[in-house]
Amino acid sequence: MIIDINDISPEGLALDISEKAFPLGMEDEGITLDGAVTGAIRITPVGKVYSISGQLSATAKGVCNRCLKPILSPVTAKFATDYHPAVEMREEMRKEHEFELIGEDLDIAYYYGEEIDTDEVVREQLLLAVPMQQVCREDCKGLCPHCGKNLNSGPCDCKVEMVDPRLAKLKDLLK
Ligand SMILES: [Zn+2]
Ligand SMILES: [Zn+2]
Repeated sequence: MIIDINDISPEGLALDISEKAFPLGMEDEGITLDGAVTGAIRITPVGKVYSISGQLSATAKGVCNRCLKPILSPVTAKFATDYHPAVEMREEMRKEHEFELIGEDLDIAYYYGEEIDTDEVVREQLLLAVPMQQVCREDCKGLCPHCGKNLNSGPCDCKVEMVDPRLAKLKDLLK
């Protein structure tokens, strides 16, 4: 939804979010949204800056980075980000550079013209919340690099001993 910033009262604006899955921009990583995106956001004006906070829930669909099993994982984005007018961007960056406020203003984003696109806000915030490294479970053993067997369902028959040549010498000495 496009919000005209002139329509936002000084007390702010509260919005319920309920959207169908949309492209996140992580398709190359094999990650998409599954089902609905729900939550609520609040836009509070602080001069020309709009502080947007809220909480979003969604489900990410991806594949385990180790065993390639498809996985669904719940995503919760809880955020509070200041949206600055984009025209001030260069000035801000210059200032940041001068004062070296590195790491302090990470929660800064920009809006363009006199509009805030809440769809874009929702997408950005979910993007930050989705784990890049998807694993089906912490101790996933992955696939055997030789035969491709899923090692979660038991060891494979590969008899490849990956022994460091230095350790092999040591082994000989111990014989
Ligand atoms: Zn896995
Ligand atoms: Zn194997």
